[in-house]
Amino acid sequence: MTTLTPALSVASAGAAPVPSTIERRDLRDDDVAFDVQWAGICHSDIHQAEGDWGGAIFPMVPGHEVVGTVTAVGPAVTKYAVGDRVGVGCMVDSCQECEYCVKGLEQFCTQGAVLTYNGKEYDGTPTYGGYSRAIVVGEAFVVRIPDALELDVAAPLLCAGITTYSPLKRYGAGPGVKVAVVGMGGLGHVAVQIAHALGAEVTVLSQTLSKQEDGRALGADAYYATSDRQTFRDLRSSFDLIVNTVSANLPVDRYLSLLRVGGTMVNVGAPADPDTFSAFSLIGGNRALAGSNIGGIPETQEMLDFCAEHGIAARIEVIDASQVAEAWERTKASDVRYRFVIDTSTITAEQ
Ligand code: NAP
Ligand code: ZN
Repeated sequence: MTTLTPALSVASAGAAPVPSTIERRDLRDDDVAFDVQWAGICHSDIHQAEGDWGGAIFPMVPGHEVVGTVTAVGPAVTKYAVGDRVGVGCMVDSCQECEYCVKGLEQFCTQGAVLTYNGKEYDGTPTYGGYSRAIVVGEAFVVRIPDALELDVAAPLLCAGITTYSPLKRYGAGPGVKVAVVGMGGLGHVAVQIAHALGAEVTVLSQTLSKQEDGRALGADAYYATSDRQTFRDLRSSFDLIVNTVSANLPVDRYLSLLRVGGTMVNVGAPADPDTFSAFSLIGGNRALAGSNIGGIPETQEMLDFCAEHGIAARIEVIDASQVAEAWERTKASDVRYRFVIDTSTITAEQ
């Protein structure tokens, strides 16, 4: 038995998302069902819907920044009740038993974490994401949205928030640490707020100065345009940590030259093509080039609580279902301030 739910679905790589109907499973004992109210648009939605990363499953219903209100819970659910404000990020299941799951690093589950969309449940059923009116998820993958956060501006934290919070914490962003955030988009504008709240000295490296005022209002101490080659001369050997949120390939060596001795550049941006860099850019300063993959469920709840405590939320442009294709184009053109969020009540079944 299943329930039919309106959703926006992509038929094939590069196709526009169109109204459709999907099935949501009936509640299992430990399931939470919720009305999706807001769904953030992550650049990863676009990469996957366009087939950038390979292995895409169609039809695809994107969306892994999903928030709403609980409508029903299974009999074994203990953490949530009808009416609770909840969210789901990039994962909806994992084995819960392997060495990584027990440490709360479900994204590295040895059985393979089940992604919220463009994935398959362990029984082979394709997963469909948050560009829809309702979702059913095991309670272990549901997080609570703190009362201090409005739901619409909290939605992007489910991916953009955790993806930047996790490496900032891991690499010690805090007082006395100089952090650069590359790219002032969905991830970047949240990273600036989190790094600032952690007490780090924050610099934004954006293509232009057009978003400087916003960057400084969100907590950046300095703001530079990477289109100006002088920036790379002025900032040589300046940063302990660079968080690269850019969705396209960068001249990596040039950015590595901005690290102090022992500094780390951590990539969260996931361009389709490989990057290249010279080993000497690392060797020359005991530097490290790293990556970071979202974050586990306990850390996602910790991040939400941290954001609530520090007044951190996404700056959003609310759109309706008919504007998603246009929003994807604007995101690709770096023309987003700073996250599009879909009012999912505007999603209707196909005409
Ligand atoms: P976004 O909103 O499009 O932001 C990316 C920003 O990168 C843009 O706003 C732009 O900032 C900058 N940028 C874009 N093209 C550029 C270019 N050619 N050269 C230099 N800068 C450029 O995207 P997002 O949603 O934040 O996602 C960013 C990336 O992170 C995507 O690749 C996404 O798939 C990936 N991601 C990874 C994870 C993970 O777990 N690792 C999780 C979520 C997302 P400026 O205008 O300020 O220059
Ligand atoms: Zn994402």
